[in-house]
Amino acid sequence: MLSFENTEIAFKSRSNKDLLKAYYLFKLIGNNSLVFIGEKLSTFAIQLGLPVGWAVKPTIFSHFVGGESIEECQNNVRVLEKFQVHAILDYSVEGKETIEDINLAMEETLKTIYNATKDENIPYAVFKPTAFTKEIVLEKVSAKLELTIDEKKEADNFRERVGKLCQTAFDNNVPILIDAEDSWFQNFIDEVVYENMEKFNKDTAIVFNTYQMYRWDRLGKLEEAYNTAVKKGYYLGAKFVRGAYMEKERARAEEKGYKDPIQPDKDSTDRDYNAALKFCIEHIDRISIFNGTHNEYSSQYMCELMEEHKIPKDDPRCWFSQLIGMSDHISFNLAHEGYNVAKYVPFGPVKSVLPYLIRRTEENTSIAGQTSRELSLIMKERNRRKNK
Ligand SMILES: Cc1cc2nc3c(=O)[nH]c(=O)nc-3n(C[C@H](O)[C@H](O)[C@H](O)COP(=O)(O)OP(=O)(O)OC[C@H]3O[C@@H](n4cnc5c(N)ncnc54)[C@H](O)[C@@H]3O)c2cc1C
Repeated sequence: MLSFENTEIAFKSRSNKDLLKAYYLFKLIGNNSLVFIGEKLSTFAIQLGLPVGWAVKPTIFSHFVGGESIEECQNNVRVLEKFQVHAILDYSVEGKETIEDINLAMEETLKTIYNATKDENIPYAVFKPTAFTKEIVLEKVSAKLELTIDEKKEADNFRERVGKLCQTAFDNNVPILIDAEDSWFQNFIDEVVYENMEKFNKDTAIVFNTYQMYRWDRLGKLEEAYNTAVKKGYYLGAKFVRGAYMEKERARAEEKGYKDPIQPDKDSTDRDYNAALKFCIEHIDRISIFNGTHNEYSSQYMCELMEEHKIPKDDPRCWFSQLIGMSDHISFNLAHEGYNVAKYVPFGPVKSVLPYLIRRTEENTSIAGQTSRELSLIMKERNRRKNK
C-alpha cells in the first residue's frame, strides 16, 4: 500500500522558515478557544470596517490562500509545478449577492478558465454555484416553491450564467468543477449541472458535479447519474468530497423538522465515499473521477483500485486533490509516485475569503486528528532536517 509517511517528499517545497510558521499556525488553530475568539474578533472588525488584513494576510491567509488575485497565485502555482503538483485556482468569495458581486465573480471565474488554457499546470477551473445568484432563488427552486416574477428571472439568469461558464470551459477545453454547498440548494444546482453535462460531455468529461458523501442519498444519486449518462450518451464528471457543512445541515434539519440529510455516523460517510470511488473505477469507461479528500485511506484505496483495474497512474480520468496548506504529505507523495494531483488554491480579497478561512480553521479544530496529524508531520520533518 502506498505510504504517505515520507515527510522529506511531503515538505520539499517548504523552507525551514515556512515549516516553523506552519508549526505555529497549526498549534494556534488547534486551540478551540483561540479560534473562537479570533473568528469573532475578525468578523466584528470587518463589520465595523476595521482593517484585518495586516493580521490575517501574512499568517493564516498566506498558508491557506494563494493570493488576492490570479496574478498573486502565480508563485504558488510555480512552486507546486516544480514537484509535479498541479493547481486549481478557486475564486473563493462567498456570501455576496449584489449584481455587482455576481458580475465580478463571473469575470474572475471566466479569467480563471482563460488562465488555465495558457498554463499547463492548471488542469481544471472551478466555481461555487452560490456565487451566481441569490440563495433564496436556489432554495425556492430546489424546494419546488412558487417563485415571484423577479425570482423566475433570476433563476433563468443563474441557468444562463452557469451555461456560459460551462460553454467557455468547453470552448477552451478546460474541465470545470462545480462545488457542492448546502443541501437545500442542491436540487436546482444538480438540474443545471446535468443539463450542461448532457450538452458538453459528449466526447469527454468537461463538466463535473460534486457529490458530498456525508449525505446518505448521494451514492444512489451517483448511480442514477451514471445510468442517465449511459442512456443519453455522455460522460459523467464526478468530484467527490465528504462535505464541509455537517453541523449546519444537522442544525437546520432539526430546527425545521425534516429528516437529517447527513449520514448517521462517520463510518457510514467513509463507507459510501469509498463505495463511490469503487463504483466509478468499475465504470471508468464512462466516468472521470476527481477525488477531493484529506483522508489517507480514501486516497490509498483509489490507488489500489486503479492498480487492480490496470489503470495507469497518470490516466487523465483519475485525479486526486487536496486544499493548499493541508495534507501535503498526501499530495506530494502521490505526485512523486506519478499520480495526477492538484491543489485547490483559493484566491480573493482578504475580507471576502474570510468565510473560507473560518471553515479551514474549524475543520482543523473540530476534526479529531487533522491538526495533530499536520503538526506531527511538521515536527517529524523538522527533526529529520535537524538530525541530517
Ligand atoms: C479538493 C477539495 C475540494 C473540496 N470541495 C468541496 C465542495 O465542493 N463541497 C464541500 O462541501 N466540501 C468540499 N471540500 C471540503 C471537504 O468536504 C472537507 O475537506 C472534508 O469534509 C474533509 O473530509 P476528508 O475527506 O478530508 O476526510 P476526513 O477528515 O476523514 O473526514 C471528515 C469528514 O467526514 C464527515 N464526518 C465527520 N463526522 C461525521 C459524522 N459523525 N457523521 C457523518 N459524517 C461525518 C464530514 O464530512 C467531515 O468533514 C473540498 C475538499 C477538498 C480537499
